[in-house]
Parts: sequence; structure tokens; C-alpha cells
Amino acid sequence: MHLKKGVAVSPGISIRPAYVLDTEELSIPKRNIESSQVQAALERYRKARQAAVEELQALQHRVEIQLGKELSGIFKAHQMLIEDPTMCAQVEKRITDELHSPEYAVTRSYRNAAKRMQSIGDRIFAERVRDIWDVENRLVRHLVGERLEEFRSLSEDVILIAVDLSPSQTAGLDKEKTLGFATDQGGRTSHTAIVAKALGIPAVVGLGNITSEVNNGDLVIIDGRKGIVIVDPDEPTLADYRNKERLYRAFQSELSEIRDLPAETIDGYRIHMWANIESPEEIEHALANGAEGIGLYRTEFLYVNKPEPSEEDHFSAYKRSIELLHGRPIVIRTLDLGGDKFFVEESVTPEKNPFLGCRSIRYCFEHLNVFKTQLRAILRASAYGPVRIMIPMISSMMELMRVHMILDDVRNELDDRGVPYDRSIPLGIMVEVPSAAIVADQLSKKIDFFSVGTNDLVQYTLAVDRVNERVANLYQPIDPSVIRLVTNVIEVGRDMKIPVSMCGEMCGEVEYTLPLIGLGLFHLSLAPAMIPEVKAVIRSISMREAKDLVRTIRNSVDPRRTERYLKEKVRKIIPQLF
Ligand code: PEP
Ligand code: MG
Repeated sequence: MHLKKGVAVSPGISIRPAYVLDTEELSIPKRNIESSQVQAALERYRKARQAAVEELQALQHRVEIQLGKELSGIFKAHQMLIEDPTMCAQVEKRITDELHSPEYAVTRSYRNAAKRMQSIGDRIFAERVRDIWDVENRLVRHLVGERLEEFRSLSEDVILIAVDLSPSQTAGLDKEKTLGFATDQGGRTSHTAIVAKALGIPAVVGLGNITSEVNNGDLVIIDGRKGIVIVDPDEPTLADYRNKERLYRAFQSELSEIRDLPAETIDGYRIHMWANIESPEEIEHALANGAEGIGLYRTEFLYVNKPEPSEEDHFSAYKRSIELLHGRPIVIRTLDLGGDKFFVEESVTPEKNPFLGCRSIRYCFEHLNVFKTQLRAILRASAYGPVRIMIPMISSMMELMRVHMILDDVRNELDDRGVPYDRSIPLGIMVEVPSAAIVADQLSKKIDFFSVGTNDLVQYTLAVDRVNERVANLYQPIDPSVIRLVTNVIEVGRDMKIPVSMCGEMCGEVEYTLPLIGLGLFHLSLAPAMIPEVKAVIRSISMREAKDLVRTIRNSVDPRRTERYLKEKVRKIIPQLF
């Protein structure tokens, strides 16, 4: 038995065999296979080799016709590198003698070859290094792609183990068969965490090297609330967790009974529960969990399937969402590309510091066509139901003024063409950069609502990368600095009579429900699967108690202690939660 602690991101208990998936874009971890798996591993490698060669032959042929023989020669050279007898023998030896997974065997063999080339220090040889990397990537892509195919045709339920999951990988997962995630990388608000929560499956991220420590088929327990993963549990542990899993299921079905009841405190304060979604497909699930509207539609996920969605792609996704909501409101956030959710790879130069770079609204300002296309689609969709526009990453009044100018342009265009849209469509901003929280009084003059995005607000306030597991313990949503910023926005909203909601992952973590209500937030937007739990807490507390609690913790200098205290408090209210 082997227990590992990581970052708890999506609650629940799952006990299933592991399915280990490497990710082509990320480094391949060292992973061993059983000796009984050697033959199958060799066959996988040979199949990938064959597929890569066939792909290169086709490429060579195409380039030769279009650009001539000289340029197509490069692909011939790549084929030779793949079929090089010394390289093939090296990879196979690693698989057979050292029991390396085929992915790891390929990576090690080709990287060693690249290192040898690099050490020669000659320009021609240095160029060859790039070819070796290319070949390595191609082979790994085939190996990983084949595993994904294999995963899709699995008949049993599994827990997926990976370095991290790219947005396109998560989009392609068989959601019915994936009953848990455990990853090496990531933090509380990384994309894998958000997806796991949206799907309502237990997940633990930031485990460091789980991919090297688990083999396919090993029995794994995930405790998504405690952030624990147990590999090969002993009998007593397994029995204990089977019992916990049963109790958790029973509790979840009890929760479904409060689905249609209001989220109201004991002393009659009504809280509005909205849902965060990444695609219209999630709306049905959100409504089934009691969502009263969509408080955050992360539209950048339109880019998962298409590098450049057209105006019609945007429009049909929005119109479909509006229809599915039957009159309930939807907040459509404009593109938040960049940071850890970038899909337009070819068109973007890699940045050294993407979270502080040309992300989100900054990207939209740089790509006005992309931004205007989306705004046009949102405005057109607003003719069909209650839509609000939300702009991410606003950090100053000048940026907000620029958004207004662009939006006016788009409005004028539609007016000229006589296209109908909601003329009083509300425009709001996410407060996720500290500067926006500080100058909320200025910004409030030009908007209709604020929505606090704690995922980024915590990251930028505390200078803690939200997806880096090495600093995950410093990522503290309840830090007094964050609380002060949120309080400022709430007070401005109250003074200026502008609604303030919150849509960060913090809203879906039950230990924060009491303080958020106590701070004066009446609109929460969260992952659909978390709505019932949070509602259960709200229905068991009073506003007075929530306000008292805020007074107690407001100036605490030790956020980790505060967090333990908050968990204890919730456990007393609903013991099944912790
Ligand atoms: C946030 O930053 O809190 C947020 C909700 O947006 P995202 O997680 O998509 O950056
Ligand atoms: Mg954000």
C-alpha cells in the first residue's frame, strides 16, 4: 500500500483500477511495466513506428508535389531516424531489459541521441538535434494517441492517472468511464481541476510523480475531499473506503432532495446559485442540480474543437444555451485565452510568463477581429433571451473604456444592418486582478455588475501561480489580503447599487460558504456538481452566524489555521461533508 497527498480539487471517493495516460505535450515520466507486459509494449512501439513512417511518407509525397524534392527530403531523413536500426534496438532494449514503458523508452533513447549531437558543438549537428526532437514527438504522439483510442474502447470504469490533462484531452475523454483523476501537476484552480469539478468526479492534482508510481491496472483509491490517493490499498483500508464510498453516495442522493428548495439561510436570507459552464452540453446537468442561471460561460472552450471558431459557431453555441435555459439568465464571458487555456497554438508566440502576458482581454485587444466576431455573436444571441456580457482580466479604467468603444462599434455595425439585439444588454467585468478590486469605485461608473474571479485574484494578489503544484500550499483564498479586496468590491457594489457576484472555484468549496455569505455575497456561481452541497450548508446556517464568523477570521494572520477552523465548523453542521 502506498499513500500520496496532493491538492484536493473535487470531492468524492472512487475505488477503481488505474489507467495511466502520458501527455504528448508534456514531459514523459519514468514509468515501468511488468515483465508480462513486455511483448505488448514492444508491439505498441512497433505499431507507432509504422504509423509514424506512413505519416511521413504521405507528408514527403505531398511536399514533393507542392514544393519540390529538396524540401521534401527532410521527411525522408525523419523516416530514416525512426527506422535507424541502432535507435530501434536501443528503444527495444530499454523496454525488454529495463522494463521501461514504450513512451519513456522512446523519449530517453532519442533525448540521449540529441544530447550526444549537441555536445559536438557544430552548427550542422545542432540543426540535427531539432530533427531528433521532432521524431521523438511524432513517435510519442502516436503512442499516446493509440492509448487514448484504447482508453475510449475500454469496457471498465477507471481512474485516470496523467502528468496533467490538456484541455483537448479532457474534451475527448469518455466521461462515463472516467471515475476519477489523479495528476502529477496542477493546483486548485488549474484546468483539470475545473473539469473534474464540472463532471462531478473525485480528483486530486499536484501529486508530483504519481505517473511513475502507478502501473496500469493497479487498484487506486481517490479521496477527493482530503486530497489523498492510495495505491494498492491493504484490506482494512479498502474495507474502510468501500464503506466511506457507500456513505458518500447515500449522502449525495439525500442532497438531490433539496434540489428544488431555495438556497435560503435559517433566518431567511436568499442566496442565488448560478452555475459555471464550459459548453452548452453542461446546462442540463446544471439545471438538474438546481442552478438558477449561468453565472460564467467560459467561451474560450469553443476553441477546443476548432482553432478559429466562426461568428456562426459562437452564435449557435450561445443561442442553444439560451434555449436550454428557458428564460433563465446567462453571463457570457468574452474570450479568456492565454494562461493555461490557450488553443490557438500556431498563431501565438510562446511567452515566458503567460499569466502576466498577452492573456484574455489583452489578447482580444491585439486581435480585434476575433473580439468583434464574438461580440457580434453575443449581441445577436441576446435577441433570443436574457444575456449579459462579462469581460475578463480588466485591470484599469482605460481598458474598460476601450471595451466600450469596441462594443459601440459592433452595435453600430449591427444597427446599420438592421440586426436585432438587446439594446440594454448588461455589461459587467470580472474582478480578478487586484488593481480592479482597488479601483472598483472608478470602474463601477461604467458597468452594470461585478463578478469576483477568485481563481485569478488569489493568484495575482499572493503572486502564487495557480497551476504550479510546488507553490500550491501558498494558494490561500482566505488570506486577509484577498478578503480585504473582495470586501472593497462588495462595499462599492452596495454604495453604487451594482450587483456583485462571485464565480471563482472558492464558491464551490463548502468551507468557504459561511464566510462568503457573511461578507455579503448573495450571488454565487459555481461548478454544477457542487451546488447541492453548498446549498445544504446555506440552508443550515444563519446570516448572523456568518457575519460573526467573518468578524472572527477577518484579521487572522494564519490562513491555514483559518481554513482548518472553517472545515471544523462545516463538519459540525454537516458531518458527512468532511
Ligand atoms: C477566476 O479567475 O476566478 C475565474 C472564474 O476564471 P478562470 O478560472 O476561467 O480564469
Ligand atoms: Mg480568471
